[in-house]
Amino acid sequence: MEVLFLYRIMKESFSYFNKGNINHFLSEKKGAPLKKWGQNFLIDKNIVEIIVQSLPENLLSEITSIAEIGPGLGAITHRLIEFNKTVYLFEIDPILIDNLKDHDYNIAPFILIEGDVLKNLNILDNESFFCFGNLPYYISTDILTSLVLQCPNLKAGIFMLQKEFINRITRENSSISIFLSIFGTWKHIKNVSSSCFYPSPKAESSLIFYEKHIDRILSDPEIEVLQIILRSFFWGKRKTIQKNIKDSPFLNKFNRNEIIEAVLQIDNLTGQERAEDIKKESYYKIAKIINSTCVKMN
Ligand code: SAH
Repeated sequence: MEVLFLYRIMKESFSYFNKGNINHFLSEKKGAPLKKWGQNFLIDKNIVEIIVQSLPENLLSEITSIAEIGPGLGAITHRLIEFNKTVYLFEIDPILIDNLKDHDYNIAPFILIEGDVLKNLNILDNESFFCFGNLPYYISTDILTSLVLQCPNLKAGIFMLQKEFINRITRENSSISIFLSIFGTWKHIKNVSSSCFYPSPKAESSLIFYEKHIDRILSDPEIEVLQIILRSFFWGKRKTIQKNIKDSPFLNKFNRNEIIEAVLQIDNLTGQERAEDIKKESYYKIAKIINSTCVKMN
């Protein structure tokens, strides 16, 4: 009952879907949204609705909490109380942090974590959670990479990112798409017009939905090897993998001949392929065979 009441108050009193109100707030505090922290505030209720509704009903019984990266003025945050879970909020900007406190986002069910999200993800170690984030674009790769590597209990999530970056994850056979595919599935949900934000970002945006695989595809050491392999194979653009294995600065700890030998045992590879021509399943096999047969030098 109490939660429902609080929910109604937060929903009805949220005033920042309005550019004028955002400007008024900012002009009193610091003047402008900060580019350096990727501040593009959502001002479109329908998009927020799509984001909030993306948490599947059946997942609610599996998770212990919810996380939001970069709550900002609370466009998504003010709707999160409806899930009746603990909500962890990660915000870096002191002015926005004060404002969140003024609106009680530091009181249960909210836990406000002040500072760089990349330094604070360990707070979620004992939680099984769903993650929301209209992410600051300048560190979106780092955030996704850190989430999947450091938070095995992240069950699913929805993220707003640059459209081009989402295409690289969902449509292309890129280094990042192969890497992220080890952990779960990544689905393009919707392109989002720049007019849904204030200020409007120059680049177009899209929403992506992540769902963790039930079973692990690779072990931790195999994942480490895969990261080195991806860096190396994608290192010299438009070069063959054989050439990249020979020249990549990331393989200094390995015997390069051993690596070539191992790779040529997989799926009829010849060494003349380019990194983007190799299927992700072949990459998983390459990581496994290198991890089990190639000796790493210290
Ligand atoms: N969720 C809000 C704001 C999105 S803008 C909305 O949709 O309207 C991105 C937010 O991420 C801003 O609030 C910004 O201050 C915050 N942010 C930027 N870098 C961050 C970091 N390293 N750690 C935590 N929050 C960060």
